[in-house]
Amino acid sequence: MRVAVTGTPGTGKTTVTEMIESDLEVVHLNDVIREEGLDEGTDEERDSLLADFDAVREWLTERDRENDDAGLLVDSHLAHHFDADRVVVLRCHPAQLEERLTDRGETQAKAEENADSEALDVILSEAVAAHGTETVYEIETTDRTPADVSADIEAVIRGERAPSAGTVDYIDYL
Ligand code: ADP
Ligand code: MG
Repeated sequence: MRVAVTGTPGTGKTTVTEMIESDLEVVHLNDVIREEGLDEGTDEERDSLLADFDAVREWLTERDRENDDAGLLVDSHLAHHFDADRVVVLRCHPAQLEERLTDRGETQAKAEENADSEALDVILSEAVAAHGTETVYEIETTDRTPADVSADIEAVIRGERAPSAGTVDYIDYL
């Protein structure tokens, strides 16, 4: 069993996956990519690591095996690019997302770029294109607590939540 938790940076993936109670091993994939060198260098313009997708895929398979196939909960804005049984897409209204990112110390430019991307449903669209609507679970985090969001993800893991996509509309932000 592999559950991907994806979403635009700032939607709360790392915060909520640290709170989740389940049998799955939590993998903070961006840390792994950096620490294990699973990258193809740096995108100078964006000041971010370019993931080596083949190397990441192999690492995840190996990690799952070492874990006696107990399963993985993969936290990353890239998580939907890899195999998964269920794909959680966290959502946040762009105005609130921008605030979360600047509070976290990101530049205004980076915060706005991510807010625009969230308004345009970029990651949700990618997740549905890669996995189809039957395995995608869109979860709204705007004006909600991390504890509420993590309870929703626990329901996905237990198979108690129906798939969903296109349940939010942030177009007013643009
Ligand atoms: P990501 O890993 O998706 O980039 P982080 O977890 O690092 O996001 O940051 C999200 C920020 O938003 C944190 O400061 C967190 O406290 C805040 N936050 C506020 N409300 C929520 C919520 N309902 N769910 C998740 N994070 C939230
Ligand atoms: Mg994170």
